[in-house]
Amino acid sequence: MNSALSSGATPRLELDGTTVRIGHRHGASPVDDALAAVAAPIVGEVGSGQPERFRTCASETCRWTFYDASPTGRRRWCDMKTCGNRAKAARHRQRAREESRPRS
Ligand SMILES: [Zn+2]
Repeated sequence: MNSALSSGATPRLELDGTTVRIGHRHGASPVDDALAAVAAPIVGEVGSGQPERFRTCASETCRWTFYDASPTGRRRWCDMKTCGNRAKAARHRQRAREESRPRS
């Protein structure tokens, strides 16, 4: 994160005639600038927010990372429309198989 932040565009004061304005100096490449722009809010949240809310999706086939902004802070899936629904459907199928087994 620090590497991404330090290689991006940096703000600087620039003299424009008789007025001073805020400009910026680009990083080594547009990719570095983009990575720094993505890293900045993450670093801000980790430093002042709730870093434990950065999670990895509970799906073994996904492992996407996300920030849990839910009120309860108990989110497990990157997205309920994809990984969350797949997990719910798998639990439902498992329960249905268990209930349809003959009992001995
Ligand atoms: Zn996921």
